[in-house]
This record gives sequence, C-alpha cells and structure tokens, in this order.
Amino acid sequence: MKSVDAHLADILATVRTLAPLEVELERALGTTLAEEVSSPVPLPPFDNSAMDGYAVRHADIAGAPVTLPVIDDVAAGSGELRAIGPGHAVRIMTGAPLPAGADAVVPVEWTDGGTATVRVERPVAEGHAVRRAGEDVQAGEVVLKPGTRIGAAQLGIIAGTGRRRVWVRPRPRVVVLSTGAELVEPGTPLGPGQIWDSNSFTLTAAVREAGGDGFRAGTVTDDPAVFLDQLDAQLVRADAVITSGGVSMGAYEPVKEALTPLGTVRFERVAMQPGMPQGFGVVGDDQVPIFTLPGNPVSSYVSFMLFVRPALRKMSGLPAGPPPIHTAQVLAGLRSPEGKRSFLRGVLADDGTVVTPVHGQGSHQLAALASANCLIVVPEQVTEVPSGAAVQVIRI
Ligand code: AMP
Ligand code: MG
Repeated sequence: MKSVDAHLADILATVRTLAPLEVELERALGTTLAEEVSSPVPLPPFDNSAMDGYAVRHADIAGAPVTLPVIDDVAAGSGELRAIGPGHAVRIMTGAPLPAGADAVVPVEWTDGGTATVRVERPVAEGHAVRRAGEDVQAGEVVLKPGTRIGAAQLGIIAGTGRRRVWVRPRPRVVVLSTGAELVEPGTPLGPGQIWDSNSFTLTAAVREAGGDGFRAGTVTDDPAVFLDQLDAQLVRADAVITSGGVSMGAYEPVKEALTPLGTVRFERVAMQPGMPQGFGVVGDDQVPIFTLPGNPVSSYVSFMLFVRPALRKMSGLPAGPPPIHTAQVLAGLRSPEGKRSFLRGVLADDGTVVTPVHGQGSHQLAALASANCLIVVPEQVTEVPSGAAVQVIRI
C-alpha cells in the first residue's frame, strides 16, 4: 500500500500553480497576489488632522488658557486653505489637510468649540494630533509582496494605493461530481435503497472554505459512459475536478471503470483509515487534475483535507504541504489498524490542550463528523493509544 505522504507528494508534484491574471478589485478577495504592490504617492498623501479641533501654532497656546481668532474652517476634502499666521486658529475636522503655518491640532474637547474665536484651555506639544504625510507608506514603498493571500485588509491597502485592477493567481475553479445509483437530491423523497447525496455539498463547501470556487455538478448514476459525458461537459470550467464514489473494489465502480482506460489516472490503495481507495491523475486536453475520492462521506471529507486542500493551495500560489499538526492529550483510549494511519474524529477543547474522540468512528457516520472539530492522527505502526497519551491532531 502507498503511504499517505507518498500520495500527497505525487499530487503536489503534478498540480501546477495557476497562471496569473489581472482582475478588478471586486474579484480579488481570496486570490493570491502575483505582483508587488507599491504606492505611487505617500500615504497619507498630505499632513492632516487626526481629530476634530483647531489647527494652531503650538507656541501661540503655550500660555493657555488663551483665546484666538478663528480665521477659517476646513473639512475633510477641502482643497484651498488659508495659511495660519501668528496667533490664529483654524477650525479643522478629522482627515482635513493641515493649513500651512500650523504645527499642532487642539482637540475640540480642550476648547469652548467657538467659531469666531476659540478659547483653548490647555497647551499641546508640537505635532499633537497631526498625521504626517508618508507616516503609513512612503512614495514608492512596497506594501504587499507576491504570494500574499488577499483578505479584507490586503484588498483595502491595494485600493488605498489607488489601484483598480491587480494581478493575481485566481481561486481554483473546482467541479464536484457525486456518483452513485443510490443517490437522490436532498429535498426529494427517498425511494427504497436510496440515500440523499451529501458528498457533493460537503466537498463543494470544503473547496470554498479552502479558498477555491466550488461548483456542484450534481450526481451521476453508476454508468461509466454517463459519467464520462458529464465529466467532459464540466471540464471546460474546471481547474480541478473532484469526484466521490465509484472507486472501490466492488462492481459498479463507474469512476474507476471510466478512467482506468485513459491511463492518466491511477487508482491506488493508500495506507489510511478512513479513505483507503484513492485515485488521482489528469484528464482532458488541458490535463486537468482529478481527485477521485471514496464515496463514504467521512472518507471523502478526510481525503479532501489531506490531499485536495494542499493541492488547491499550490494551485493558488500558496505554500503547500500536509495540514498543520498540533499536539493534545487524548481523554479516551484509541484503537487503530496495524499498518494504516488513522484519522479519528475528535473534539479538541477550546484551549487546544485535550481532545475527546467522538462516538461513531465509522466512515459512514457523517453526523459524528459534523460534531467533531479535529482529526486525531494515529501513526501506521501504532495499534493502541492509552487514555492520557499525547496525540497529534489536525484542526478541521
Ligand atoms: P462507493 O465509494 O461508491 O462504493 O460508496 C461508498 C459508500 O458511500 C456507500 O455506502 C455509498 O452509498 C456512500 N456514498 C457514495 N456517494 C455518496 C454521496 N454522494 N453522499 C452520501 N453517501 C454516499
Ligand atoms: Mg458507489
């Protein structure tokens, strides 16, 4: 059997980082920056007031309380300003440019708030409540480097440098296909022997949680020809494809039957539980990576976290490898098959110190998975873990 690490290594060696493209800012959230972003101007672009108050020359109010004439009123956005002479004050709002001659701002709270004259109650130091040009960013300074995942704040600073478009590695577009003659759409009644398709919802959502654009292409029956037709129709919009089901050792395994003859997808047994039957390869003229995951709901989700998520990170231009591992103390004994790495479902305490396995460790027990927040990893050679032992966990 192939090891979990060898399978992930094969996948990461095959998938390629997506080519950069230029997008409008509205489409940049969750993508990865593919260029250096620098500011053409200093930020802030001009000296301005950090508070609502009065712009003054600090020396003029050293003997406060004093009363000064108010010679102007500047709001944020004001362009034409009167310079301040000795003994003058200008009423000023937060973000408004500091008039020439002024060197400090007195907060309105330390004054009587006057509009013709203002009584200033206390002195301020030079530069008080003044935001200097370039204090955040110098002209020409790099604010974001290539490889940065664009979140809300990163999007903000890109806009803040005046950019409307940006070069990014896009979110991978991932088509999700469920196979199984027993599957029916949630929202429709169950017939004899039928179950509602849950995997396509889980996997599409997992793609989105991982930063990709997931498309749920629904379910296909266990006919290899129908499966191939569906796959073909979906390939045009896919940077990757995920299928569930139809890869085990039984009869009616449409994914395996349809893809094996192509010779570009390998079906293997990976030494893990759940999720032993795995397939991976490329399909179509564009060599689109395809992950053929086992059908049991817990198996397909665990396989996604271990193999697909790192691959999507590589496609996005992010550092990619096995999921991050934490250590915790397990509060119950565990069993695991010899020679396989187990990923048991557990609840990790909020402080991350202790973990409790959930009831229902079967690979079909989706409700148990939904009550878990981590996978407890038991190494291949370990078959029993006593309660109280230190274990490795992967947050999910
Ligand atoms: P398979 O890998 O196709 O042999 O399926 C293994 C098990 O997973 C069977 O019990 C299937 O009924 C179940 N299964 C397969 N696909 C789905 C799905 N999309 N949603 C829920 N259960 C599924
Ligand atoms: Mg099946």
